[in-house]
Amino acid sequence: MTTESLPSTARSEALFARARAVTPGGVNSPVRAFRSVGGTPRFIREAHGAHLTDADGTRYLDYIGSWGPMILGHDHPAVREAIASALTGGTSFGAPNEREVQLAETVTRITGVDRVRFVNSGTEATMSALRLARGFTGRKYILKFRGNYHGHADGLLVEAGSGLMTNAAGALGQAAPSSAGVPQEYAALTLVSEYNDPAALDTLMAERGHEVAAVIFEPVVGNAGVLIPTPEFLAALHRVREHGVLLIADEVMTGFRLSLKGATGLLGLTPDLTCWGKIIGGGLPVGAYGGRADVMDFVSPQGPVYQAGTLSGNPLAMAAGLATLEILEGDPGLYGRLEAYTGTLADGLRSAAREAGVILSVNHIGSMLTAFHQDAPDGSIRTYADAARSDTAAFAGWFQHMLGRGIYWAPSQFESIFVSGAHTDHDLNATLDAARAAYAGLGGAA
Ligand SMILES: *Cc1c(COP(=O)(O)O)cnc(C)c1O
Repeated sequence: MTTESLPSTARSEALFARARAVTPGGVNSPVRAFRSVGGTPRFIREAHGAHLTDADGTRYLDYIGSWGPMILGHDHPAVREAIASALTGGTSFGAPNEREVQLAETVTRITGVDRVRFVNSGTEATMSALRLARGFTGRKYILKFRGNYHGHADGLLVEAGSGLMTNAAGALGQAAPSSAGVPQEYAALTLVSEYNDPAALDTLMAERGHEVAAVIFEPVVGNAGVLIPTPEFLAALHRVREHGVLLIADEVMTGFRLSLKGATGLLGLTPDLTCWGKIIGGGLPVGAYGGRADVMDFVSPQGPVYQAGTLSGNPLAMAAGLATLEILEGDPGLYGRLEAYTGTLADGLRSAAREAGVILSVNHIGSMLTAFHQDAPDGSIRTYADAARSDTAAFAGWFQHMLGRGIYWAPSQFESIFVSGAHTDHDLNATLDAARAAYAGLGGAA
């Protein structure tokens, strides 16, 4: 790479130094620190449409979209206006307000759940849904899948994907905490099975199903890189209910992204509970969980399962979510456009890599995509173990080339990128031009 052409990162470097002095690792969420790709994380000054501008004034084409929420692009005029209008009425009441009702009506109408409860993050949504499942069933174990990430609640930081993918895997059904501070006794209440392995799930359910309150899963995995479920695995997931187990779809990433009805709608799933986050808040902090009335009515004050939040249902956040979902509902063609862009991007990456002699295996669905640096047929990467075979050093090199060319890809091999409605054909061509140069710069086998 020709270093003399690279833009300055002096201000980001200075801010990062200040941040490290006052915040652990200089960031408020680990993957932002660029640890797995190296270099200085860019401090972002502003974002509009599909572009970010950093503290040094460098503009990037953004494929992170705040890790999923910005499906309409940044600073969408209608969302900005909705927030501005809510702002004139005060920012928090600690009492019910009409916007909460409107967003709940919209979510139930779109997704078909009977009831929904709003919280402030995806983590809170999954944590609360599991407490509800335990309260409803009177059972204490939960089951999750290796490499799936459901936020950072204690019992879910077990074999938990994404930034935690360096941890060694234990035997099936046996839970190893992926974080210090999670007691083994607590992790022991979380059973683990392999994603996309229906036989392993059936076996574990036959042995332990009667003790399990809920099976929680990413209906399409984004947090080990993109992994797509097989029909056989989805059928096995639905069979867990024969054991009196609740099925919890974690749609925090996929909800309102893979279709208006999320992955659940796209794949024909019928979970008992669903968790949302990211898009549901339109770029402000919102999470939610919802489902059947008989289960949801176990939540306090209606039922015995306690869950609360000082800022839950915040009027600004509700306004942003409502504006976002209304735009998505009113533009049914959007999902097809996102999918077409992503499909062309996938094909372009494959051929650019092939031309340069770089090995690559691309998984994509809807507007989510991961290009794994490994020699595997496209679509054959289905499990955490498959994903983990990727060449992370090659990915890091490619990422830096792309960043140097103004393309801001997700700074980890084990993340999805996100395409938004603000990405244009011009952006697509610019991305593929940069990718060709970046793969060539990697010095592949050719
Ligand atoms: C992002 C994410 C979460 C956690 O949401 P936060 O808002 O970061 O707490 C949970 N589950 C999935 C599938 C996610 O992608």
